[in-house]
Amino acid sequence: MTKTISGGCKCGAIRYLGEASDVSTFRCYCRDCQRLTGTGHSEMFPLVAASFQLVGPYSEYQMTGGSGRSTWSVFCPTCGSPLTRRSERMAHCVYVHASSLDEPEEYMPSRSIYTEAAQTWDQPSLNQ
Ligand SMILES: [Zn+2]
Ligand SMILES: [Zn+2]
Repeated sequence: MTKTISGGCKCGAIRYLGEASDVSTFRCYCRDCQRLTGTGHSEMFPLVAASFQLVGPYSEYQMTGGSGRSTWSVFCPTCGSPLTRRSERMAHCVYVHASSLDEPEEYMPSRSIYTEAAQTWDQPSLNQ
């Protein structure tokens, strides 16, 4: 049973669509996520990469992730909303930022990662 998930940026220029993946959701406290979101952590919802469609004039930024391999961040060049993350290491998934979903209530974080990088003002609340 697949569920189609949609979302987009604040200004509406960029929209995306994809099938929910059964890979677990996560909350990431790494410094990259902190800088990309401007907050203490990101909330990431996985979609099946093969089903993923992104429509609109997006920008993509490539960087080296904690694993030493490439990761990419897609964002809207007009309003600046962060939209997706993907990586060489997890090529079968595209992770969308949970708050960009049309129905953010579809998301429920299941684990926290890179908790050692968490800021004192945003401590991990999941017991993992
Ligand atoms: Zn936008
Ligand atoms: Zn991260």
